[in-house]
Amino acid sequence: MQGDFAAHAAALARAGAEPVLVREAADLQSLDGLVIPGGESTTMLKLLHYDKLLQPLAEFAGRKPVFGTCAGAILLAHEVSNPAQESLNVMDIGVERNGYGRQLDSRVTELDPEPEFNRRTAPGKLEAVFIRAPIIRRTGPQTKVLAWYQGDPVLVEEGRHMAATFHPELTTDPRVHALFLEKL
Ligand code: GLN
Repeated sequence: MQGDFAAHAAALARAGAEPVLVREAADLQSLDGLVIPGGESTTMLKLLHYDKLLQPLAEFAGRKPVFGTCAGAILLAHEVSNPAQESLNVMDIGVERNGYGRQLDSRVTELDPEPEFNRRTAPGKLEAVFIRAPIIRRTGPQTKVLAWYQGDPVLVEEGRHMAATFHPELTTDPRVHALFLEKL
C-alpha cells in the first residue's frame, strides 16, 4: 500500500518466488510469507488502520514468516522510539526511527555479514543501501544478528521472521531475499 513494494516484488521474483501485492486482509489468505517494505512507517500505520489490516497482519505473523525492511522493520519491532509509535509487535527488538540522524541519513555501504549468513546463502560482502534508516537498539535472547554496521545490528532473524534496516530490494544481490524464501 505504501513504500517500495514494487522493488521487493521484483527482488522476490528474481529470487524465484511468485509475488502477490497485499491491499486487503483477504489477500493474505493465499500467502506463504509476507514482506513489509521500506517507506514511511507513520503513513503505513495510518493506512493499516484505515484498511483494518493491523490485526490481520499481526495474526498472519503469528502463523507465517514476515520480513520487514526499514519502515517494515519498524512495524515489526516490540518498541519504537524517536518518537514512540505503535507497531505490530512481532519481533523482540527495539528500534529508534531515523537513528542515523540527518547528516548521514542515507548512504550505500558494503557490509561483512556474519559467517552464518554467508554459509546459508553464498560467500561475499553485502551491499547495503540505508535510507533514513532506523537503528536496532535492542535485541532479545532469541534474536540472531546476521549483519552489523558500525556496531549495530542491521539484519536480524528471530524464528521465522527477519528484519533489515537497509534495503536489499534496491541491489541486484538476491541473497537476503533468498534467505527469507527458505523460511516459507
Ligand atoms: N524513516 C522511515 C520511518 O521512520 C523509514 C525509512 C525507510 O523505510 N527507508 O518510517
